[in-house]
Amino acid sequence: MTNPILSEWNTPFKIAPFAEISDEDFAPALEQAMGVHNAQIDAIASATETPNFVNTIEALEAAGEQMDKVLSVFYSVAGADSNPRREELQREFSPKLSEHYSGISSNKTLFRRVADLWNRREHLDLTDEQKRILFLTYRGFVRAGAALQGEQDTRMQEIKARLALLGTSFTQNLLADERDWYMELNEDDLLGLPDFVVSSARSAGQEKGSDDPVVTLSRSLIVPFLQFSPRRDLREKAYRAWVSRGANGGETDNREIAAEILGLRQERAKLLGYDSFAEYKLETEMARTPDRVRDLLMQVWEPAKMRADADAETLTAMMRDDGVNGPLEAWDWRYYAEKRRKAEHDLDEASLKPYLQLNRMIEAAFDCANRLFGLAFKPLDVPLYHPDCRAWEVTREGRHIAVFIGDYFARGSKRSGAWCSAMRSQAKFPVEQAPIVINVCNFAKGDPALLSYDDARTLFHEFGHALHQMLSNVTYESISGTSVARDFVELPSQLYEHWLDVPEVLAEFATHADTGEPMPREMLGKVLKAANFDQGFQTVEYVASALVDLAFHEGDAPDDPMAKQAELLNEIGMPAAIGMRHATPHFAHVFAGDGYSSGYYSYMWSEVMDADAFAAFEEAGGAFDPERAKALEDSILSTGGSREAEELYLEFRGRLPGVEALLKGRGLIAA
Ligand SMILES: [Zn+2]
Repeated sequence: MTNPILSEWNTPFKIAPFAEISDEDFAPALEQAMGVHNAQIDAIASATETPNFVNTIEALEAAGEQMDKVLSVFYSVAGADSNPRREELQREFSPKLSEHYSGISSNKTLFRRVADLWNRREHLDLTDEQKRILFLTYRGFVRAGAALQGEQDTRMQEIKARLALLGTSFTQNLLADERDWYMELNEDDLLGLPDFVVSSARSAGQEKGSDDPVVTLSRSLIVPFLQFSPRRDLREKAYRAWVSRGANGGETDNREIAAEILGLRQERAKLLGYDSFAEYKLETEMARTPDRVRDLLMQVWEPAKMRADADAETLTAMMRDDGVNGPLEAWDWRYYAEKRRKAEHDLDEASLKPYLQLNRMIEAAFDCANRLFGLAFKPLDVPLYHPDCRAWEVTREGRHIAVFIGDYFARGSKRSGAWCSAMRSQAKFPVEQAPIVINVCNFAKGDPALLSYDDARTLFHEFGHALHQMLSNVTYESISGTSVARDFVELPSQLYEHWLDVPEVLAEFATHADTGEPMPREMLGKVLKAANFDQGFQTVEYVASALVDLAFHEGDAPDDPMAKQAELLNEIGMPAAIGMRHATPHFAHVFAGDGYSSGYYSYMWSEVMDADAFAAFEEAGGAFDPERAKALEDSILSTGGSREAEELYLEFRGRLPGVEALLKGRGLIAA
């Protein structure tokens, strides 16, 4: 019998036939697909005809279609509906896949053909998109080290292997420190804590095998504890343990690992011909240079610090009223900020929720896409991997655009968080294929299902990513949809969140589950105002981490990262009562792998753009201005990675983004 994953999918819109696929199909399908892919790569690399665009670049683009099928099905179920067998497969597949892909990117015969084409690029008569694909393919090989020879090549392989090992140790040490520490609480210690903190402390206690409730170092427990516990001594103890993760001495200490990682990264960048690792990393980003990143971060830093300093004074005065002397400490900030939030804009989550029905919020996201881009959504009855999944056919003026799938509810088999992925990406080569895009969230079930405001924001965010995939209009899959620079990819998603805050959208769709009444004006005002509460603190803790990340990867790698971190914080005047959002020994974004190294800034980079881009709508006459909507689709949502991000933004906005809209949005300067 043929493997259902690899056979032709005779289903509506060629959606994967999930019902026919069993877990035992994945491993053989992947083996077969990798074998086919390797044979395709070998054939391209060893071809005897002179390289041309068709026999090399297009052939590479078309290769591996079976891999796409297997992986899109497997990752859908492994992330959103896992089980022990799927987890086991994931552990099995991950090293195999990284070996498979690094085998391709270090294939020297293949690289020689790509390099030959690159050298003759001016004479190949290529379209703009083809030039771009050739450039990206060539650059990808060079950055992976395919051009290195002899000793340099050997050293590069050693560095990569060592870095992979160090990244894993860093993560495991962090997990060990987080697992080992906990603080038992007696009944008196629970006074003042809201029910949800008490109940998560109790279940954390059970997990640790303790009869008492406990505080652990998990962000979802320790942050609310610091926010609500009136016991200053306990807050201090918990806070100190939290910020010591990875720096407790002994076998799980990450400080030397961090230093070695930074040294190896620098050596790797030098081997590839870059001055620093930051330069290497930022080359493919919209920001492009360390100077531009620092410039942006410092423009935000100054006003954020001023706001934080002013807030610190207010909080210190509140602390004095409690009879506490001495300076405001890092374990005091969240507690007094929470008290202040209650006093200044108390928003009662319980009375807000009935206005945010999941179904109405989905309708709102669809309605905005209809008004902006003319998209229509029709429910589609197709079997998917879980009964909670819902599907819609997306059309425009009757023409099929995409299939959109929403898998909204939390369940034990789903990993936490929310994400968007393409089960199939838009492309026109080798054949026209329409996208199949899924949003996965973790909302609580209910009848009707109700959301918090943050949940509703998440729904709009992921739908923004989905639009980037669904409206994609390029030829080649490798640059389709969200295949763009990391510091650009959150622009469409964060931008779409702004439409949730448009008063007329909430007025129409935020209707009470029982009465159908629209949300009262006063509540609406509170919701919108609550968004920029304590932004001095939030911005300071984030920007400090981003600046340290950048400093680590610029110039010579520091021998002592902790000293470098202290020096930088001193230089920028870090407020004493605010810690970094992630300090070096537990800065997993930067040290657990390569993903966000000298890239932690990118959240803010995107936020600057989304605020600036939404301001373009407001300046043009409103959130639904048709000309702005068309420009957004033409220049950003349809173009994928076919051009440099900066060029796309310039085309949309007529200028580069400025920080003003972000500072206003965060309440750091007057609106
Ligand atoms: Zn996102």
